[in-house]
Amino acid sequence: MLRIESLDAHYGLFQALFGVALAVAPGETVALIGSNGAGKTTLLRAIAGALRVRPESLQLDGEPIGGATEREQLARGIALVPEGRRLFPSLTVHENLQLAATNGRRGSWTIERVLESFPGLRALLSRPATALSGGQQQLVAIARALVCNPAFLLCDEVSLGLSPLVIDEVYQLLALARRDGMAIVLVEQNVRRALVESDRYVCIQKGRVVLEGISASADRHAVAQAYFGV
Ligand code: ATP
Repeated sequence: MLRIESLDAHYGLFQALFGVALAVAPGETVALIGSNGAGKTTLLRAIAGALRVRPESLQLDGEPIGGATEREQLARGIALVPEGRRLFPSLTVHENLQLAATNGRRGSWTIERVLESFPGLRALLSRPATALSGGQQQLVAIARALVCNPAFLLCDEVSLGLSPLVIDEVYQLLALARRDGMAIVLVEQNVRRALVESDRYVCIQKGRVVLEGISASADRHAVAQAYFGV
């Protein structure tokens, strides 16, 4: 169980998150919903170790893990698919995947299994990451996180700028991961899609959790109000 408690996050003097609380159980998908600048990316970065936070504000199975580095969180099974993909541009797709597999944990998600799940990636293996389309890069970015075999996969706007067909492919890949028991924390601009793809949702407004609940029974009106801050 990943537990976030009284989590504050700062950029210098600017405070971006205020006392955020959230628990993520193995195998569940939680959607973070909120307008631009609400603090969704900051929350994912704080969990992934990209941002310093107090040790006790982040706990994995009762152990305080806040403030650890990204590498340490990855070793514990927490992986981030950052907004904007951030593959190593001069490396090939295969090299990007190999590097991740080497740095991550051992598990059922091997490079071979990812290629079996998404045969389209096989033809791209020898291409440099820069030669891929945005959609292809996004699939590789998710594949790269999967081969680290995380217990918790943090996805930041993985469907941004993609065609509807590719978005479906992205969510198919995430569904496979969920079936394996991977927990997913999802930031998705499309609120309707976010609710369809998640078990629970959490609305964040100006760095604070203002609404949460079960996605299937979410009151769309209340979520829209929380989203727009009216
Ligand atoms: P978006 O949907 O635009 O990505 P978000 O909900 O992910 O929004 P964050 O990116 O987490 O929001 O930003 C939360 C707040 O922190 C915003 O006010 C933003 O301006 C500020 N912020 C984000 N990154 C930095 C940074 N590197 N330095 C200073 N302030 C930052």
